Amino acid sequence: MDLDRHDFELDDLVEKIRANDNRLVALQVPEGLKMQALEMMDSIEDESDAKVILAADPCYGACDLVHDKMKMMGVELVAHMGHSQMNIDSGMPTHFIPVTYDGDPELAAVLPLLESHRAIAQSRLESVGEETVIDEGAAKERFLDAVGRVAPLTGTRLGLVGSIQHLHLLEDFKSRLEVAGFDVEIPVGGDRLTFPGQVLGCNYSGDDPSIGHYMFLGSGDFHPIGLVLHTGKPLAMLDPYSGDATEMSLERVERILRQRFGLINSVDEAQTFGILIGEKPGQMRRNLAIRMKRLLVKHGRKGYLLALDHISPDLIDFYPVDAYVNTACPRIAIDDSVRYAKPLITPYELEVALGEKKWETGYQFDEIP
Ligand code: SF4
Repeated sequence: MDLDRHDFELDDLVEKIRANDNRLVALQVPEGLKMQALEMMDSIEDESDAKVILAADPCYGACDLVHDKMKMMGVELVAHMGHSQMNIDSGMPTHFIPVTYDGDPELAAVLPLLESHRAIAQSRLESVGEETVIDEGAAKERFLDAVGRVAPLTGTRLGLVGSIQHLHLLEDFKSRLEVAGFDVEIPVGGDRLTFPGQVLGCNYSGDDPSIGHYMFLGSGDFHPIGLVLHTGKPLAMLDPYSGDATEMSLERVERILRQRFGLINSVDEAQTFGILIGEKPGQMRRNLAIRMKRLLVKHGRKGYLLALDHISPDLIDFYPVDAYVNTACPRIAIDDSVRYAKPLITPYELEVALGEKKWETGYQFDEIP
């Protein structure tokens, strides 16, 4: 990571610490910044009267704010880096630092992908003629999205989204894309998202039927995989770090769906399930977990509620159950299930396995609202 090109906003943080006269501050940083954390602690301590404690447990999102344990240690302020506030209250005063990156990639690289994706959206939209009456089979053929849902569009707009480090580029990219002839929307999502155009690995709530395809400004495929599983729409990615343009291919999505279907089939005969409840403030879905337990009972199976802060194979593989249903971070089941000794599925996938929902009507991404 090119640290010189990231803005850690340490001056603002120090100013806040001084203004509050804080004496004990916790610093929470994502895994990719842990190596630089000691240097940041030095600089905060040099510039203020505060002592800094690094919250050194793994942290993958703002769902994972440090809370009661830091309070017990007497921490007065939490500085949380790399994520933005979501609709949870950790009970601790928290200062969020998005850590923006100054890379500004060329648009040209991604335009051919966007043009071909717009053509796909247009062909889906054009199928919706006011006077056109089509039978069920034809409707399925025309409106089927990438995850197997029949989902007609009302427009072919380009949804422009990004990860938090690059959101400051969106307005400028919107103008550039409009000059290139695209009708662009920066979608505004629900309470879990702080900024227009923001997406999280567990929330793509800004999607609407007027958006026909997407462009993602960011790196890696974590957000793109979730975006396509959630929306079923074509997605081009432009990476501000490398300048590379790629797309989330249909083959990739099909591979993921095949794996999910295989896992659903593999729990067909399972009698006992561990139902995982995340203890992190923004991952805790107790009611959903209890609903899954009731559902298992209804179908003559058994479910054990297991609450964990971090979920990993060594902490659950040994329980004498046949499979697991995960109600914590949705991406644990989607991205990491191969690491576990037993099938690990989402609540929706359990409902399909038990016959409460139909796989044939399309895949449903496990979103935390
Ligand atoms: S629940 Fe998972 S995907 Fe959502 S913000 Fe937390 S770590 Fe990211």
